[in-house]
Amino acid sequence: MKPAVCPVCARGAAGLPGAWIAFADHVPTPSDELGASAGIEWFCSAHAPAAEAMTDRSAADAIAALTNMFAAVPAPSESPPGAWLRRFRRFRPR
Ligand SMILES: [Zn+2]
Repeated sequence: MKPAVCPVCARGAAGLPGAWIAFADHVPTPSDELGASAGIEWFCSAHAPAAEAMTDRSAADAIAALTNMFAAVPAPSESPPGAWLRRFRRFRPR
């Protein structure tokens, strides 16, 4: 059983909404458990929609494309509202 960790942002499934997504190279086995076989990956809710659009690719292909796609976009957890507010206040005239 592989850990439920989003391959794009490395956030774990603990307390986060997300989904297991099967890719083109996923081969269901008789004793198939979620996350037990190749070609299936867990994605957090921020990245699952983009991953679902790539299920016609192999898991490795899709992860490489998604990692590139989101490389320039910080994960939502990296810019909490508090940080933006602090930055905003710094530039406010006194
Ligand atoms: Zn993610």
